[in-house]
Amino acid sequence: MGILDIKDVSKRFGGLQALSDVTLSVKENSVHAIIGPNGAGKSTLLNCLVGKLIPDTGSVMFDGKSVLGRSPYEINQMGISRVFQTPEIFGDLTVLENMMIPCFASRDGAFELNALSQFMKQRDVLETAEAMLVDMNMADKRGMHAASMSRGDKRRLEIGMCLSQNPRLLLLDEPTAGMARADTNNTIDLLKEIKEKRDITIAIIEHDMHVVFSLADRITVLAQGTPLVEDDPQNIRGNPKVREAYLGE
Ligand code: ADP
Ligand code: MG
Repeated sequence: MGILDIKDVSKRFGGLQALSDVTLSVKENSVHAIIGPNGAGKSTLLNCLVGKLIPDTGSVMFDGKSVLGRSPYEINQMGISRVFQTPEIFGDLTVLENMMIPCFASRDGAFELNALSQFMKQRDVLETAEAMLVDMNMADKRGMHAASMSRGDKRRLEIGMCLSQNPRLLLLDEPTAGMARADTNNTIDLLKEIKEKRDITIAIIEHDMHVVFSLADRITVLAQGTPLVEDDPQNIRGNPKVREAYLGE
């Protein structure tokens, strides 16, 4: 059993069977990559894990508890954090202000009316956000408008915002899409560092094979809504079925 266990998950959109009987287990503290051609159902699968879509059939268990029927907020509280395909940061706010948002959200929900306790909470949030920027190697950018940063730095900020919630499972949907090579390499280094330093499991959807082979401990190839093969990276490279279906050889 893994930290994430997906069993027989199917999802249909009208006449289109986007996922059929997907079974996949993600081992704790591993980096599990999900690859496959465009339209294979990768994002649909991810959306089923975070409560954005509800599968028609099957089960999704995180740390032994079902995520199905829970809201995205509840699933986030369970310890699953997701990085979107396009960065979800607030361009008009500074880097530090962006980082403060999830730090506010991860406090307990109790609304404090007392001015002193409000102030203390704010100070606490500021400290947490600043420490997180140091952790992300972004302290020097704290006053910059988020919109003016490079794509790689925007991604770094967004990943930091996710990590500030201390998730046990980080989900990434094509985190290097549209990036220049230097930004891609930067993102690879960041994810490697996170993998080494933190007690975290990462599931990553990725098109760029350089990224996949740099990071993944395990790879699942999805084709037409079904897992075609799951194996270690070195076996995926040489697998003729994979080369045919995905690598286009
Ligand atoms: P991938 O991320 O692997 O490229 P997706 O999961 O986005 O693939 O899409 C799988 C299939 O489901 C595609 O054919 C896509 O057009 C279709 N699809 C995805 N989301 C929806 C939706 N909300 N409504 C209808 N069809 C959808
Ligand atoms: Mg997608």
